[in-house]
Amino acid sequence: MNTSLKDKVCVVTGAASGIGKRIAEVYAAAGARVAIADLKIEAAEATAQEIRTAGGEALAVAMDVTQEQEVIDGIAKVVAQWKKVDVLVSNAGIQIINKITDFAFDDWKKMLAIHCDGAFLTARECMRDMERRKAGGAIIMMGSVHSHEASPLKAPYVTAKHGLLGLARVIAKEGGKLGIRSNVICPGFVRTPLVDKQIPEQAKELGISEEEVIKNVMLKETVDGEFTTVDDVANVALFLAAFETNALTGQSIIVSHGWHIN
Ligand code: NAD
Repeated sequence: MNTSLKDKVCVVTGAASGIGKRIAEVYAAAGARVAIADLKIEAAEATAQEIRTAGGEALAVAMDVTQEQEVIDGIAKVVAQWKKVDVLVSNAGIQIINKITDFAFDDWKKMLAIHCDGAFLTARECMRDMERRKAGGAIIMMGSVHSHEASPLKAPYVTAKHGLLGLARVIAKEGGKLGIRSNVICPGFVRTPLVDKQIPEQAKELGISEEEVIKNVMLKETVDGEFTTVDDVANVALFLAAFETNALTGQSIIVSHGWHIN
């Protein structure tokens, strides 16, 4: 199978850290020109510089994915620089945990805005470019095992991640004739800043130790007690970006050490 992204222009949101950063690095190593779109512009610049130092092509783009004009301007900046967008990885995300009865409405709205508004706005702008050029492309959403499973304390996250399955399926249906494929990657727990922050928070909420959160909450249902890695997720993102036909569209791929088996 072809895993080269030579001459492809890829936009990865939330690429200044964690999973998105590794996807950007793997894409660049596969020959892509990669836009590092992130709220944190200094960290995005640093990631872009690391990729350039390693011999790749990268551009940092300041973008809050919840802000329509920032998304429009950010994607326009990529198109101005490289003439097109071939691949979007809508990956930017945060986690806020709480019991439903303690959840602030503002926190609920913030979560849905980042995960769902962000995915919609970035997909829309990239699809507009793909439609204009009639060249097709790949739209990849960063879902989660929580696109398929529920856990306590995560009402907006689980709701948003389930929602991304629906959005990707509609993109697959609307994009088919244009050669635009859309799929969702659903990772298990990956040790990134998003998860490291959550371990003490869950320990406090559940009244257990941090070790118990890792062993009995996060990794309990896996086949081997192992965390998923950023490389595991980035390799699936490479496979989906490089896959060339509509045969693989509207799907979700779960990468979770067997935590969730469909
Ligand atoms: P991370 O905290 O390491 O990185 C998230 C990045 O998103 C950061 O660089 C942050 O600045 C950026 N970001 C946050 N809000 C933004 C906004 N409004 N606009 C633009 N950028 C924004 O987190 P991560 O673990 O790498 O998570 C990346 C994605 O993977 C998220 O969608 C998350 O839900 C998903 N995910 C993570 C795990 C996990 O265990 N880490 C598991 C499944 C899914």
